[in-house]
Amino acid sequence: MTMSATADEKLLRALTALLGQKGIVTPDEIAERVALTDAASPGQGARMVARAWVDPAYRALMLADGTRAAETLGIPMRGAPPLGVLENTAGLHHLVVCTLCSCYPRAVLGYPPFWFKSAAYRARAVRDPRGLLAEFGTVLPDHVRVRVVDSTADYRWMVLPLRPPETAGWDEARLAGLVREGDMIGVTQVAC
Ligand code: FE
Repeated sequence: MTMSATADEKLLRALTALLGQKGIVTPDEIAERVALTDAASPGQGARMVARAWVDPAYRALMLADGTRAAETLGIPMRGAPPLGVLENTAGLHHLVVCTLCSCYPRAVLGYPPFWFKSAAYRARAVRDPRGLLAEFGTVLPDHVRVRVVDSTADYRWMVLPLRPPETAGWDEARLAGLVREGDMIGVTQVAC
């Protein structure tokens, strides 16, 4: 009995071979990117959020240039699309979606959760953001404005969530432990 490759695997091999032949991207570069994404996790974004909460200068850098802020903490960003950071405030809540497909700041959050790619999430984030947020247990007062931001192939977004007031005096590592993937997409708020 022989193992046969699926049609997807054959297509992928043909595509990577062609990209190599044309000098667009080498197999080593593809392998490097896969390894970087495999190693990335929401813990990296959480470290950035915790640093921003305790260090105003870092917070300013993160809002001005997310890519540089990530690199400052040793997160590899080479070849990744630019990273933008959206700051939640008492009066403004951000929700990130890729309406077209599944663009996601993988360098700082790792692979997206399964629902991020779903047609239902992508459509409802735009059509009914408050209803969608409520399904994640996030009920915002009426005075809080919701801003939905579209991630694209050229620009990726993450949310800098609000710091819970109960965490006054907490150190950075403990703060980072609180921050979840959904908090940085904007479907949830940081809770302790
Ligand atoms: Fe996309």
